[in-house]
Amino acid sequence: MLERGEVANSWRRERWDSLRLLTPNWQSRLPGQHYDGRDPDGYMTMAEVSDFIERYAAHSRTPLRTQTDVTSVRRTDDGYHVTTSQGDFGTQAVVIASGACNQPSVPPIGAAVPDSVEQLTPFDYRDPAKLPDGGVLVVGASATGVQLAAELQRSGRPVTLSVGEHVRLPRRYRGRDVLWWMDASGVWDQRYDEIEDLTRARRLPSPQLVGTPERATLDLNALTSMGVELVGRWAAVRDGTALFSGGLRNMFSLADLKMRRLLAAFDEWATASGLDAEVGPPERFEPTRVPASNRLQLDLGSGEIRAIVWATGFRPDYGWLDVPVLDAKGRLDHDGGIVSSPGLYALGLPVLRRRKSSFIYGIEDDARDVIGHLAGHLAARR
Ligand SMILES: Cc1cc2nc3c(=O)[nH]c(=O)nc-3n(C[C@H](O)[C@H](O)[C@H](O)COP(=O)(O)OP(=O)(O)OC[C@H]3O[C@@H](n4cnc5c(N)ncnc54)[C@H](O)[C@@H]3O)c2cc1C
Repeated sequence: MLERGEVANSWRRERWDSLRLLTPNWQSRLPGQHYDGRDPDGYMTMAEVSDFIERYAAHSRTPLRTQTDVTSVRRTDDGYHVTTSQGDFGTQAVVIASGACNQPSVPPIGAAVPDSVEQLTPFDYRDPAKLPDGGVLVVGASATGVQLAAELQRSGRPVTLSVGEHVRLPRRYRGRDVLWWMDASGVWDQRYDEIEDLTRARRLPSPQLVGTPERATLDLNALTSMGVELVGRWAAVRDGTALFSGGLRNMFSLADLKMRRLLAAFDEWATASGLDAEVGPPERFEPTRVPASNRLQLDLGSGEIRAIVWATGFRPDYGWLDVPVLDAKGRLDHDGGIVSSPGLYALGLPVLRRRKSSFIYGIEDDARDVIGHLAGHLAARR
């Protein structure tokens, strides 16, 4: 197992200081290692996640080579040639487990932002002190965007949040964590080959959730109550002015509708499973409040906005993969982790084999399936 940095590198190097997992502790599971602390319903800090993974590496006796950067993987007649910062070698099979979030995605409009406005990605951001005083425009309202918008607003900087398509969820529903419902009702076990629009499912933004000791909901209504200003999707920059789409009302209605449908599906499942007496009564949430007047443009040269935080998602980096298995958009061509080049496999990608593949605890079932195929491949060669 080759790792360019150290164990749990992404959690140590590529996350901000206040981040906690949005998945509850009981859901942090790796094959043969479950959470055994005193707060199964809490949410791990980054130090705790790193420690959890470090313990797993030791306990599983993973044959690890850290500080080993893979710079090329090429197909050969009998497998693959791997070039690393610590030397080359040949192998019959390769599992790509290099992560889905190696680089922040920043839309091309970033290039048109005046130099007077500082631009950061979640990889640059550590805490509010990193930013100049003054207004901040956070772009993107998924988990990263809502969390950073809340933290920056609390630091005294006026925050404007540009909202595109998003997934609204309450932190708790009928007395249980909303992710308990996802897990227990089977939503997260749904297989990739049963999902109607798999491409869309794999591109779905992360839910508006935060892991805090208070187990608070962090949806757009919570941000509005804190004083965050909501604007529409950032469409363009013209003459130094940011132009935002209208239609917040429609976007909010759609996210509210999808949330209501999901919660109704949980209710049906609870009734069918005879659980109604064990959980709280069904809850209905206030629709997302539409601002009385939402701005359609913002002069980026006026000094009102001193910094922009791009919370517009992440993407993988396959710059080192010299095998023609990427599509026109740079996505890996695979069928449930079995890549279209024999002996090449992938793990750790969104909805790889199940909806839960996007999360740490999805790895157990996925690894079993993918490694089963890999073992068959090696046996057939022998
Ligand atoms: C901001 C953020 C918050 C998240 N919150 C949660 C959460 O609350 N709960 C949850 O379950 N999941 C969460 N996730 C998803 C979680 O990161 C993934 O499920 C998990 O990290 C996947 O593990 P991985 O080992 O496949 O990928 P990674 O953790 O990305 O690890 C990939 C490793 O590969 C190494 N690598 C990459 N390229 C090379 C190379 N060329 N040579 C050598 N080594 C290389 C990297 O250094 C890295 O250590 C979050 C993701 C992000 C980005």
